[in-house]
Amino acid sequence: MGMAQTRTRVSRLARPTIGIDIGGTKVAAGVVDAEGTIVERTRRETPSKSKSPRVVEDTIADIVAELGARHHVLAVGIGAAGFVDGTQSSVLFAPHLAWRNEPLRDAVQRRVGLPVVVDNDANAALWAECRFGAAQGESHVVCVNLGTGIGGGVVLDGVLHRGRFGVAGEFGHMIVVPGGHRCECGNRGCWEQYASGNVLVREARELVLNGSPVAYRIAETCEGDPSRITGPMISALAAQGDPAALELLEDIGHWLGVGLANLAAAFDPGLFVIGGGVSDVGDLLLQPARTTFRRTLTGRGFRPEAKVVRAALGNDAGLIGAADLARRERSRRRDRAKLVTTRLLLPRRRDVGGNGTPIQRRVKRAGGTGTAIEPTRYTASAWRRGGA
Ligand SMILES: [Zn+2]
Repeated sequence: MGMAQTRTRVSRLARPTIGIDIGGTKVAAGVVDAEGTIVERTRRETPSKSKSPRVVEDTIADIVAELGARHHVLAVGIGAAGFVDGTQSSVLFAPHLAWRNEPLRDAVQRRVGLPVVVDNDANAALWAECRFGAAQGESHVVCVNLGTGIGGGVVLDGVLHRGRFGVAGEFGHMIVVPGGHRCECGNRGCWEQYASGNVLVREARELVLNGSPVAYRIAETCEGDPSRITGPMISALAAQGDPAALELLEDIGHWLGVGLANLAAAFDPGLFVIGGGVSDVGDLLLQPARTTFRRTLTGRGFRPEAKVVRAALGNDAGLIGAADLARRERSRRRDRAKLVTTRLLLPRRRDVGGNGTPIQRRVKRAGGTGTAIEPTRYTASAWRRGGA
């Protein structure tokens, strides 16, 4: 490929993309540049579950029209809370929306006249953390998002793994306590019944309902009405040092650690990134999680341990990741590459040791097939930030 041709391709792909994160209550969207910076943002209410799928498409088309009027965008990436099929074109099921096997990608593409990419919101958030956030420079990453439930995603060897049918990463429904609390999914003892924002609220309400004297600050704060207790309320009390709130977070942290040890047994990541609203309390949650993780980890004492860190991009991760995935998909298609996955560009790691995966060489191969958009710059900066 000649220099002139390279320059044309790079400038084309340097155009911003739109990222749209469709959550349970709001649709957050933004124009994102090639560095992962949000240039402009907008938001809408998520249409109610009773509305037809068409209404969600209207919302998306409206957002693209608004942002596209001011920016010369390349593509649109959508991160949706729900099951996205293996071909990344349909939403099989979304808990908060009327989507049942909804062919979202093609429907939106027809309406907005731009290439569209659809992914699960947790995958999009993980991708953003790998490219621009807490997981830069790490090749094997598992993310766990503690919201109302637990969502997650897996990057192995620099590749986002969506599973054969597109629904990998539903860690929240791994059973950690056989016969335990009933879960919305119909089973009992799912992980998200022990470590999520909902659990924090459920346990705090129970303390107040039982008139437990340890919960007097919580009872005072919700003015004796347990239905007014929220996750952020408990987090704020914990930050002020309230022992009952701290204890509740410690319990959740403990169960988080149990699940992370299970995930380490399955995936052996180098890094766990913990996101979602509950993670805002930082070490009040992560410290007990790390303690239990170490105590529960298979082969502890005889193996390197994954680090457990808080996500860096907060609520913006989903839209930044969706936008970046759209950019990558675009570059891949242009080069007619047969590669089905999106691979991260990673610095060479000398500590890989025994299984000695030559990541650098793979990056170059991937570059040949078109995923390497900005190899030299990204590799160098990730290397620095990785602190190796
Ligand atoms: Zn479940």
